[in-house]
Amino acid sequence: MPHPLLALVLSLTSTLGAAPSPGLAVKYEPAGSPRAEQAKKLLEDSGALKTKIKLPKPVKVVARDCDDAKATWDGAERRITICYSLVDKVHRTLTGISQTEEADARTTTRRIDAALTVLFHHQLGHALGAMNGLPDGEGQADQLAALTLLSDAPKRVVAAAEARHLLAGHAGIDHLSGVEESATFACLLYGADPAKYGRIAQGGWVPAERAPNCADEYNRVKSAIGSM
Ligand SMILES: [Zn+2]
Repeated sequence: MPHPLLALVLSLTSTLGAAPSPGLAVKYEPAGSPRAEQAKKLLEDSGALKTKIKLPKPVKVVARDCDDAKATWDGAERRITICYSLVDKVHRTLTGISQTEEADARTTTRRIDAALTVLFHHQLGHALGAMNGLPDGEGQADQLAALTLLSDAPKRVVAAAEARHLLAGHAGIDHLSGVEESATFACLLYGADPAKYGRIAQGGWVPAERAPNCADEYNRVKSAIGSM
């Protein structure tokens, strides 16, 4: 049996183009209010809740009404929960920013879809870390999220860095808040292919002085997961 961490690396690097992960069971629970219903539809339409990454064990994803605007990973149940209220918060915050910027509707939709994709991949990062026996941590979840996002949704990479940058200064967007975290996430995405993802540096979503080091940062993260 391969070492679980080796299996993780293999699964991250060898599944491009594969069918959607059979280990992921996604369920949308009924929404209890018009606002939650709108969030449910946004999440469904975004196509965010999917991955081609091979999971070491089956994982449930449940989108539902909850008291708090949260997304969580439950290791005992192997379940990712995404609350409609958090989706609503992401939607309202990014729509507000787009209105201030007078951005068009397509731009707004692209940002929201990308933010919801990051939201899911961050939780997938918690899940992959835990299932591979790694101590949990926000930084590590983000590192894994960057790697899986690059593999799963290369067309959303630039918008993901932008959306997270726009949300970074807004408190309470659960795991998507935080300026430093946003810069590190953007740096990893940009560093994976600085030519292809040059827009991330041009947008200033990675601090200019950090951008030249991002390819190294990305390679360090990739090989750190490999050497563990
Ligand atoms: Zn987290």
